[in-house]
Amino acid sequence: MALAKARLVLIGSPGTETAEVAGHLAARLGLPSISIRDAIQSAVRTGSERGDELRRFMNAEQLPPPELIAAIVRRRLGEPDAVDGFVYWTEFPTLSVMRSLETVGIHAVELVLANVEATRRLTGRRTCRGCGMIWHIESSPTLVEGVCDRCGSALFHRDDDAPAAVAHQLSVYHEHSGPVLVHCRAAGFLISVDATRPAEEIAAELTGRLERG
Ligand SMILES: [Zn+2]
Repeated sequence: MALAKARLVLIGSPGTETAEVAGHLAARLGLPSISIRDAIQSAVRTGSERGDELRRFMNAEQLPPPELIAAIVRRRLGEPDAVDGFVYWTEFPTLSVMRSLETVGIHAVELVLANVEATRRLTGRRTCRGCGMIWHIESSPTLVEGVCDRCGSALFHRDDDAPAAVAHQLSVYHEHSGPVLVHCRAAGFLISVDATRPAEEIAAELTGRLERG
């Protein structure tokens, strides 16, 4: 595969630093890093028909149908900056997006992280009430427990980071990604990487594997 035409879809559970890996990878390959949020913003900003359709769902606080999401992602990935390739990343892959992308020839990359490690990463986070900085009780603890090193405000445990909420996020992820990963593996375009390491290291390994073809 010519690297200049790398079209990558990064799939990772909450806690895998998917956005960070995508950022490093995109920088290494000289390609744009694109999320579902970017695709939606682009559709709404450019006032496309699909953007209007999407806005109607959003105004009604309804979940847009998967086909509409797929069309919007496909549209964003067809913009000029992505002509030579892209790093599209998502925590909520769907079969309709994948099916619509695979016609252009993609590699799906699964960031593999055991639930127990994802849970450790997410439930250990503590957020500063003052500056919003995110700390971690094990991997980036503050000098004084419960107090932000940067601004001195109190830290709190976000509801999203509570064990039950994290367990729910992970089960939703596996429910969505399971069939997608099975599909990509069966179709022969899935690369799996160990996501326990720092994002930069994962990006370096992936670049090496892609260069070797
Ligand atoms: Zn702070």
